[in-house]
Amino acid sequence: MKSAAFSTGNVLVIRLERGEEIVSSLLACAAQQGIRAGSVSGIGAISGAVIGFFNPDSKSYREIAFSEPLEILSLTGNLSTKEGAPYAHLHVSLGRENGEAVGGHLVSATVSATAELFLQPLNGTLIRTFSEEIGLNLLKL
Ligand code: ZN
Repeated sequence: MKSAAFSTGNVLVIRLERGEEIVSSLLACAAQQGIRAGSVSGIGAISGAVIGFFNPDSKSYREIAFSEPLEILSLTGNLSTKEGAPYAHLHVSLGRENGEAVGGHLVSATVSATAELFLQPLNGTLIRTFSEEIGLNLLKL
């Protein structure tokens, strides 16, 4: 992983390389930089991904795995903490070779060529706690 900090707007630009996993790399970067709240956006190319779809009735995710070349058309989400550790909540739209798009809650994705993530840190700490009622780790605001 390579990254560079730009003083204007204090955005961390992260470039991931072939074989790196996006979610764990982002969390590692947040831990390394001491970022405890922020917004994330990105684009790139991946060799496969696992995305989830949350069912509010069963309070569980159905996971769908893709093992094919995909373009990250849009990755968006936020960075917070849960029990003191960095926590990423990310969604993606993925483009297939034939032009179709799929998408959902990003569980994991492996870079095939490059991924370019912009992480905008926020001052302070965003905390997540598990909601029994909803079945998700919600932002505590
Ligand atoms: Zn989600």
